[in-house]
Amino acid sequence: MRHGNDPSSELEFANSPTPRLHNSTPMIFSDFDGTITQADVTDRILEELAHPMWREVEDEWVRGLIGSRECLERQMALVDASPEQLNAVIDAIPLDPTFAAFYQLTERQGIPFYVVSDGFDYVISRILKRAGVDGQLENGRHLYASHLEATGRRLAASFPHSDCEHGCATCKAAAMRRLRGENSQVVFVGDGFSDRFAVEEADVVFAKKQLLGYCRRRRIGCRAFETFADVQAKLESVVGTKASREGAKAPRPAPVR
Ligand SMILES: [Mg+2]
Ligand SMILES: [Zn+2]
Repeated sequence: MRHGNDPSSELEFANSPTPRLHNSTPMIFSDFDGTITQADVTDRILEELAHPMWREVEDEWVRGLIGSRECLERQMALVDASPEQLNAVIDAIPLDPTFAAFYQLTERQGIPFYVVSDGFDYVISRILKRAGVDGQLENGRHLYASHLEATGRRLAASFPHSDCEHGCATCKAAAMRRLRGENSQVVFVGDGFSDRFAVEEADVVFAKKQLLGYCRRRRIGCRAFETFADVQAKLESVVGTKASREGAKAPRPAPVR
C-alpha cells in the first residue's frame, strides 16, 4: 500500500514529519534485536537459559500490565547459566548480512550512528564486534542499552537510560531527543513494538515487521525495509547524505503533504 505521490520514494502515508532535506546533518538511530540481528537475542537467552516462568512475565508485558524495564529485570533474574553457555547463545545469533557494509558507509561518510536498545550492552557489543564494528561501543556513547552484570551463574539487569514515563528499559525517544542537534535529520531504523515511542522523535522512519504494522495502523510516515541494504539504497534519496550530494543525481522525494 503506497500513499506517496512519488512511487520511487516509497513513502507510506503522508502525515509524517516533513524530512528536512537542506542543510541538515543526518544521524541514524537503530534498534538492535530483529533489526541488526535476525532474531531477538534476549528472547533466545530466555528460551534457552531461563526458568520457563519468563513467559508469564512476557505475557504481563504484552498485556500492558508492566513496562519493558520491569519485564526485563524480572526475566533476566530467571536465567541460570555459565558465562560459556551465555556466550554460546549470543554467538549463534545471525546478523543481517548487509549490516557491516552499511555501518562502514556511515563511518566513511561521517554520519553519526547510534544503537538504541532495550537489550543488553554486553550482548550487543559482543555481536557488533562479530560484525566488525569496533570502538565506540561504550554504553552511553554510541550505544544506549540496558546493562548486564553477571555473578556466577546469575545475571542482573540494570537500566542506565530508562528515565521516562513509558516504563521503557531504554528510552529510545529520550536518547534521540537528547542527542539530536538543532539541524540534524533523525533517521530511525526498527522492527518492533518497543520502537513505537522512537518513531515520534524521527524525521525519517525505516520500519519492518511489528513496527511497520504499527506505523501503518497509526498512519505514521515510514519506509518499509527488510535489510540494511534496503536502508542504504533508500537513505540517499531521503536524506542529504554526502553520497547523494556527490552524485548530484539522486532523486528528491515528492513533497510530503
Ligand atoms: Mg527490535
Ligand atoms: Zn520511554
